[in-house]
Amino acid sequence: MLRRSLQLALGRDVLGRGLGTHRGGSTLDWNGKMSEIKKKIQSVLPGGAWTQLHDTSYLPPEHSDVVIVGGGVMGLSVAYWLKRLERPRGAIRVLVVERDHTYSQASTVLSVGGIRQQFSVPENIQLSLFSIDFLRNINEYLAVVDDPPLDIQFNPLGYLLLASEKGAAVLESNVRVQRQEGAKVCLMSPEQLRNKFPWINPEGVALASYGFVSSSSHAETPSGEEVTLKRVHEVHVKIDHSLEYQPVECAIVINAAGAWSGQIAELAGVGKGPPGTLQGTKLPVEPRKRYVYLWNCPQGPGLETPFVIDASGAYFRREGLGNNYLGGCSPTEEEEPDPENLEVDHEFFQDKVWPPLAQRVPAFESLKVRSAWAGYYDYNTFDQNGVVGPHPLVVNMYFATGFSGHGLQQAPAVGRAVAEMVLHGNFQTINLSPFLFNRFHLGEKVHEHNII
Ligand SMILES: Cc1cc2nc3c(=O)[nH]c(=O)nc-3n(C[C@H](O)[C@H](O)[C@H](O)COP(=O)(O)OP(=O)(O)OC[C@H]3O[C@@H](n4cnc5c(N)ncnc54)[C@H](O)[C@@H]3O)c2cc1C
Repeated sequence: MLRRSLQLALGRDVLGRGLGTHRGGSTLDWNGKMSEIKKKIQSVLPGGAWTQLHDTSYLPPEHSDVVIVGGGVMGLSVAYWLKRLERPRGAIRVLVVERDHTYSQASTVLSVGGIRQQFSVPENIQLSLFSIDFLRNINEYLAVVDDPPLDIQFNPLGYLLLASEKGAAVLESNVRVQRQEGAKVCLMSPEQLRNKFPWINPEGVALASYGFVSSSSHAETPSGEEVTLKRVHEVHVKIDHSLEYQPVECAIVINAAGAWSGQIAELAGVGKGPPGTLQGTKLPVEPRKRYVYLWNCPQGPGLETPFVIDASGAYFRREGLGNNYLGGCSPTEEEEPDPENLEVDHEFFQDKVWPPLAQRVPAFESLKVRSAWAGYYDYNTFDQNGVVGPHPLVVNMYFATGFSGHGLQQAPAVGRAVAEMVLHGNFQTINLSPFLFNRFHLGEKVHEHNII
């Protein structure tokens, strides 16, 4: 049975301000463009100080072909690729809705900003290779005419993954897959490690993989259950300083709400069915709190320090030029902190982060923690990998979420994949079928060894 109307009525605390509607061109700043256009029109009209009879700029549009919930890196990447790939130009209207334009809790601005090729699942490696190429050539994609070139401080120092005797065979087989996919990664013995990075203590390390950031990219219901197909017909949006939500009719909704995407899915009815059925399968994405510490260490490793991931799971990278370092470690399931707020646990650094890193880099025995913050992983409790593409039953809701700590680096490629799905009905550049929602119901996990 086809249910004709499903309203995504977003509650008081859920939806906020529309970042921009795009009725042509690929700019994300429609409001800015509008005022420019208005000024130009005013300057040529007799009387100069011309105002519209009804100013509707405080209202969201009544219709939008695509509404993207969440204006973090994922939502904006999807918007960018939709506008870039649409034919003819200006064919589709896209509305990005973001509730917090300070981005105070968004993962995008609270992340560590690392990008690596060292995954074990081919699709994850391809996503990173695509993104590396995008970031390296960012001005080909995002430069604005007459503006200075963008500088995103892309610092391609690579990742260094360290494995103990226990993890060595897996690390070696992962490197084989990474090379097959075109990644530039080499294996290093403890001795080679000592020679290349004299500041590392290789004790307990059996094998390392060192990934250079290269530039290359690649060109792609199920059970017998009787199901009800649904659609989201409108999204309720509230503009700042307005008391009321306004309905925005839409053809497609993109759920790019990061750590909160589970709640958005629930509003659309995802998972509201008998347990064990496709209808009863929830989007398994929830906020998980992660700490990042910034410390200074005058004797610490120098400029060519890669992003190091120790066999213990603790990691660090250099931050800037002043012997500052960023690092952390994901807690075990038992240690998961309460995600209620973003307060930092400083003891976690003393107990879980510092000891393994000081053992690995003896210079870190004396360091001074300067600051710290916490952010949310958009954590996929099923298999810690992204969820990409349409929902099988709420047929016009598409996901770009659940990246569990590696979403920033995958965003350029995922945005493109979702836009391809929306515009062409299939993945064209990288086949991300293993990341479809169906896998939760089928119990088919994506087995990625390198989740950090
Ligand atoms: C500490 C930490 C370190 C990380 N390190 C790395 C790293 O080194 N490399 C890497 O690749 N990734 C890393 N990540 C992961 C990465 O930051 C995320 O996967 C990625 O930023 C997710 O982007 P997003 O746009 O989906 O989410 P977000 O940036 O969280 O954006 C989602 C947006 O949705 C908005 N929203 C939510 N609900 C609504 C609603 N109802 N209405 C309107 N808007 C709504 C929110 O306000 C938010 O701005 C890290 C994450 C953390 C927390």
